[in-house]
Amino acid sequence: MAILICGGAGYIGSHAVRAMRALGREVLVLDNLQSGHRQALADDVAFVRGDMRDAALLDDLFARHRVDGVLHFAANSLVGESMQLPLKYFGNNVHGMQVLLEAMIRHGVGRIVFSSSAAVYGEPESVPIEEDAPLRPGNPYGESKRIMESMMRWTAEAHGLRYVSLRYFNVGGAAADGSIGEDHRPESHLIPLILQVALGKRPHITIFGDDYATPDGTCIRDYVGIDDLVAAHVLALRHLENGGESGMFNLGSEKGFSVREMVETARRVTGHVLPVVMGARRAGDPARLVASSQRARATLGWQPRQGVEEIIASAWRWHRAHPDGFDA
Ligand code: UDP
Repeated sequence: MAILICGGAGYIGSHAVRAMRALGREVLVLDNLQSGHRQALADDVAFVRGDMRDAALLDDLFARHRVDGVLHFAANSLVGESMQLPLKYFGNNVHGMQVLLEAMIRHGVGRIVFSSSAAVYGEPESVPIEEDAPLRPGNPYGESKRIMESMMRWTAEAHGLRYVSLRYFNVGGAAADGSIGEDHRPESHLIPLILQVALGKRPHITIFGDDYATPDGTCIRDYVGIDDLVAAHVLALRHLENGGESGMFNLGSEKGFSVREMVETARRVTGHVLPVVMGARRAGDPARLVASSQRARATLGWQPRQGVEEIIASAWRWHRAHPDGFDA
C-alpha cells in the first residue's frame, strides 16, 4: 500500500518523502511544482505533476495506486502574501482540502496527516500555547488552516475518516547531509534570509519591528528542526495506523527565540558579521508564538531534539553547498 504525499516536492514534503522511503514505505508524490522542486526528490520516486484541486486527477491516482494514507503538505504558506492576496489562500488551501477529502471518501482512503500551523492561534493570550487555546487567526493564511482543520473534523464525524493535524511552529534546517533544504522563490523566511546575508547575496537582514512587547522588542518564535518535524509525521501516521484517535497537535520546542537572538546565533554558526537594519512591522505577525508540545509528546511519543544552533548549522550546510538552491 502506498502513501500519497501531496506537496511532496516542497521543503517539508521532500524531507518527509525521504523519511518514509527510509522506513521502506511506498510513496506517491503529487505536486504542481508551484513552489516545489522535482530535484528535491530522488529520480526513482513515483511523481505526478498536477494540482490537488483536479478531482479527475485524484480519481485517477486513487484508482491506479493502492493508497491507504495521505500526508498533506500542499498549500500556500506565506503570512505576508496572504494579507495581500487572501482569496489565493482560500482558493488553493481551502478548496484544495475540499477536493482532496471528497476524493478520499470516494475511494475509501481513511487516514490523513495534515500540515497545520501555529498561525491558527493568532495573538495568544498566554504562552506556551496549548491546543485548546482559542483559535483567532490574525491573517488569511492562518484562517485557511483553521478552516482546513474544521473540514477534516466534520468529515471525520460524517464519514469516519481519521486525521492528525500537526500545528507547526517555525520550521527550519535541512537534511543532515546537506543534499536537500529550503528553496523558496522569492524567499521570505527568516533563517534562509539571514544565511543569504552570510553568503553575500544580501547586504543586510531587515528586522520586521523592534517595538513589540518582548524583552528585546523583536518577535519571538519557537523553532523546530526539519528532522524532528518529519519524525512527528512518521509517528502521527503510525498513531492512525494503530487505531489512534484523530487530533490536533502542536509541534514546537517549547522555547522562544527573538529575531535578534536568531541573528546572533547565525553570527556564531557562520562566523559572519550579518549587518542588521530595523524595518517596520510585517502585517499579520503576532509578537510571540511558543508551543506547548506536551500533547504530541504524550500521545505520539514525539521528542524534539534539535536546538536553534543545530537548525541554523544544518541550514547553513545546505545553503553553502547550494547557494542557488536546487539550480546549483
Ligand atoms: N522576520 C524578520 N525579517 C525577515 C523575515 C522574517 O524580522 O526578513 C521575522 C518575522 O517578522 C517573524 C520571524 O522573523 O517574526 C519569523 O518569520 P518567518 O517568515 O520566518 O516565519 P513565520 O513566523 O511568518 O512563519
